Amino acid sequence: MLDQLAAMLPDVIDAQRRFRARWLPFHEDDSLQVDDRLLREGLQELEARLQDNYPFFHPMYAGQMLKPPHHAAVLGYLAAMLINPNNHALDGGPATGQIEKELTTDLARMFGYKEHLGHLTSSGTIANLEALYIARHEQPGRAVAFSSQAHYTHSRMCEVLGIRAVEVPADAGGRMDPDALNTLCLSEDIGTVVATLGTTGVGALDPLPRMLELRERHGFRIHVDAAYGGFFTLIADDAQDCVDSAAFEAIGEADSIVVDPHKHGLQPYGCGCVLFRDPAVGRHYVHDSPYTYFTSDDLHLGEISLECSRAGASAAALWLTLRLLPLASDTGLGAVLRRCRSAALEWSERIRTSDRLSLVLEPELDIVAFFPDTGERSASGISAHAADVFERTMNDEENPLYLSKLRVPTSLLTARYPDLRADAEWTTVLRSALMKPEHASWVERIHTTVEQHVM
Ligand SMILES: *Cc1c(COP(=O)(O)O)cnc(C)c1O
Repeated sequence: MLDQLAAMLPDVIDAQRRFRARWLPFHEDDSLQVDDRLLREGLQELEARLQDNYPFFHPMYAGQMLKPPHHAAVLGYLAAMLINPNNHALDGGPATGQIEKELTTDLARMFGYKEHLGHLTSSGTIANLEALYIARHEQPGRAVAFSSQAHYTHSRMCEVLGIRAVEVPADAGGRMDPDALNTLCLSEDIGTVVATLGTTGVGALDPLPRMLELRERHGFRIHVDAAYGGFFTLIADDAQDCVDSAAFEAIGEADSIVVDPHKHGLQPYGCGCVLFRDPAVGRHYVHDSPYTYFTSDDLHLGEISLECSRAGASAAALWLTLRLLPLASDTGLGAVLRRCRSAALEWSERIRTSDRLSLVLEPELDIVAFFPDTGERSASGISAHAADVFERTMNDEENPLYLSKLRVPTSLLTARYPDLRADAEWTTVLRSALMKPEHASWVERIHTTVEQHVM
């Protein structure tokens, strides 16, 4: 990857030179000049400061959802960033604005939307905020419901928007309990329900088909938060039984969808996406444009988004990445996701037969949640052992392994392990997001390393 990046970087600079050569030459102002030596020193100091990082690129980093962008994304980003278009308006970034529209169309088609309105955002949080902002306009005065396992920003964004937020309990699989949702709708005025496809904690898939049935009965909107899990739709449409397809097949019925290209789309941070099934919701972003404006081809992205300035480079990076690794099922991004999914399946199989580790849940995507099984049967004891293994694996001098900790309701564990003593409401377990395709060939190493540190 670095070799290819190094080989292509001069091409990016040359392209920039050709772009600049189209206009009259001029001298950059003296006030902007910096000394070569000082620049080099600054870079060296930056390098030193950047050492204080975990090795996100490495398969032995199996903690949070972190990894470097694909080098195609880096090159695409850099090529556009040297121009620095602003995708707020078409005149701020004509080319990248057009690219962004094509990309959102591709993403909308991936989810089965025939028509759509959508755009990139700077994050999943902002994309969800936009979806809830539109939901509030469409369902004024009514509450938003999401599961207890939904991303924590939903309650925060409801607060920002002044919407009442209601939590729905999750079942033993970490998914929204549809019966609880039904009961809730009988006593509360719920205008929007958030279905998470791929919870950030354990990667659980809310039961979207059941939730869509309840939408018919109760007349709420459904917003799908697939910030992390959305791209798994690519590998959920086949007979290989790789990813449970029911939820993903229904996704095109949702009123809005959020997906984060900076999570599973190989992009650097600053790339989320929100999509609406009905283009007419665009009217809620402005007050003085007729509705037909939003189905015209000339819409300005800034007129259908809450954010103002946004990097056109994000669109360029995603475009170049998907040109090389397209939204396909068996090749391109689908092939990458299959590797991640198979890593999770293989590791969970090893954990299931291990006498030192136990699974919290069967993984539905590529997150594996587990805990050290030392014979300790209390929630507080398991938490202490998990924290201990977390520290030990990370501090192993020769062979460090980076996991993450996850706090789960103890009831999630007792549902699977009835003999556990729930002496605390929450239990800390270990969690790995196996979101690099290389994880598929490192599972054995990762597994034996964790086992070695279970005392
Ligand atoms: C990561 C995540 C978010 C937040 O997205 P950011 O891009 O980090 O702001 C929201 N929902 C889910 C399900 C996520 O996994």
